[in-house]
Amino acid sequence: MPADALKCKECSTEYPLEARFVCERCFGPLEVSYAAPNSDPAELKRRIQAGPHTMWRYADFLPLEGPARSALPTGWTPLVKADRLAAKLGLKEIWIKNETANPTHSFKDRVVSVALARAKELGFDTLACASTGNLANAVAAHAAAAGMPAYVLIPHDLEEQKILATGAYGAQIVAVTGNYDDVNRLCTQVSGERPGWAFVNINMRPYYAEGSKTLAFETVEQLGWELPDRVVGPIASGSQFTKLARGFQEFIDAGLVEGEIPTMNGAQALGCSPVATAFAAGTDVCKPVKPDTIAKSLAIGNPADGPYAVELAQRTGGSIDSVTDDEIRAGIRLLAETTGIFTETAGGVTIATLAKLAARGDIGTDERVVAMVTGDGLKTIDAVRDTFEVTTIPASLDAFDEHFAPVGVGEASPSGLASRGAIAHGAILPGEVA
Ligand SMILES: *Cc1c(COP(=O)(O)O)cnc(C)c1O
Ligand SMILES: [Zn+2]
Repeated sequence: MPADALKCKECSTEYPLEARFVCERCFGPLEVSYAAPNSDPAELKRRIQAGPHTMWRYADFLPLEGPARSALPTGWTPLVKADRLAAKLGLKEIWIKNETANPTHSFKDRVVSVALARAKELGFDTLACASTGNLANAVAAHAAAAGMPAYVLIPHDLEEQKILATGAYGAQIVAVTGNYDDVNRLCTQVSGERPGWAFVNINMRPYYAEGSKTLAFETVEQLGWELPDRVVGPIASGSQFTKLARGFQEFIDAGLVEGEIPTMNGAQALGCSPVATAFAAGTDVCKPVKPDTIAKSLAIGNPADGPYAVELAQRTGGSIDSVTDDEIRAGIRLLAETTGIFTETAGGVTIATLAKLAARGDIGTDERVVAMVTGDGLKTIDAVRDTFEVTTIPASLDAFDEHFAPVGVGEASPSGLASRGAIAHGAILPGEVA
């Protein structure tokens, strides 16, 4: 499926595959367009299955000329069946796409991989971005792995965990006293006067956006070449959300899977929910807002792909919902306690939205649902502070027993069977695994 042009999403004007992101005629956004697949489905599938266990196994669907390679392998993250979460929500089948398993622990490794590879093909020497945190992290790491200098511009009030994890890679971190939309505006200006710089989500945006399709491709392949009935995913700029649908559609068009695009449910934080607000009002005009939420990685007040996200939710019978900061915290805990996956606030937004859809009765009892858990909880550790207790005791067995009283010595419970002597000798209790 060779890429053949950049095409305006509004007026369909075509441009060569350069570092260009906005239509000169109508100022609409550009995206990569492809020629029809030049292989039959069986051959395409064979090539995918013979590929590496990274996102590059889908190179046939990505806009690169040369062999797709990167120094920091990305993708092929686990798709985890979440039966305990499903039971708790009264649903039949939930799968978690666990993007915390990427090299910098968020889905941003995918978009950076494609943007960096294309930037090299186009001869850029420096990598840069405007970021809400995870993108800075991914740009810094992938640039380091590729031996390129990197400049990352971020809002000054990001989580410290994200800034520290980014600085370690040696990137120049520029903290701007303003919100993401201010940072983005500044980057667009800088981009205009630094011709050697590839801003992954500005002048490289059409290529960057393609990386998100691999989330959909992997989901289909990991479900045994089947489509989910419904996908719940977070929305910041709306790029990932809309490209998920694009990915499903491309696999359908290529004959790799049968069916329709899943019902698409978008998730936003109430404190930054211009897309959910537009959806509720029945319009695709997303009025810019000033973000105020703990979900900082989703805090884009003026989302570039917002209108397309609204349109997609409408077209597939889905919705775009928003959840409060307390619901986000509860969503993080719910996922962690039922699956062992610790997600950041963006994942909390997704899981809280999933819970809301389930409670509202929007999800059919026979549906197969996939939730996109896009980032790691260690990056937003404050979101769980004070949500549980730590029991502090002196190093004495009596103190332990005082707090965690055995059910009754001699009873047929693990604690009852555990004679102190047996524990001292490292004996394995009945029912324990060696
Ligand atoms: C960037 C990001 C998203 C979504 O971003 P879009 O701009 O909508 O593509 C989702 N989750 C996390 C953790 C992110 O960092
Ligand atoms: Zn146009």
